Amino acid sequence: MTDCIFCKIVSRELPAEIIGEDENFICFLDIKPIAKGHALIVPKKHYKDILEFPTDMELDFFAFLQKMTKKIIAAVGAHGYNIGMNNGAAAGQVIFHQHTHIIPRFNDDGLVSWPSKELSPEEIAEIKQQILNVH
Ligand code: AMP
Ligand code: ZN
Repeated sequence: MTDCIFCKIVSRELPAEIIGEDENFICFLDIKPIAKGHALIVPKKHYKDILEFPTDMELDFFAFLQKMTKKIIAAVGAHGYNIGMNNGAAAGQVIFHQHTHIIPRFNDDGLVSWPSKELSPEEIAEIKQQILNVH
């Protein structure tokens, strides 16, 4: 895609702090990191979101994700990590070229996770039925 920032990083038209690459994926540091070592895994081909992502690339994706996560964790001395993906504007996706966040976490780093909702067992059962009804 000609106007896509991540396509331009893949083609080296835009600079990025690239920390790894294989045939199908590239990994570079996030320009506005949530934590030290926050990086993005980006497929070299343009897919809008995870539902466009070809399932036959899953093995390669997970192998590359594990390799890069291990390297980042070792480099920054993280105690844990979040693997995240925003899909759709409502979910916080800003760049519409599918990508996965690797976010190193540190004991007592103060980052708070999403707040949970209180739903009754009946409401949860109703949602389950709604999902099962979709074919
Ligand atoms: P998302 O909200 O999942 O779409 O996240 C997009 C991420 O891309 C954000 O964390 C941005 O800080 C990051 N980002 C945007 N432009 C660049 C860039 N040129 N180089 C590195 N990271 C970027
Ligand atoms: Zn793109």
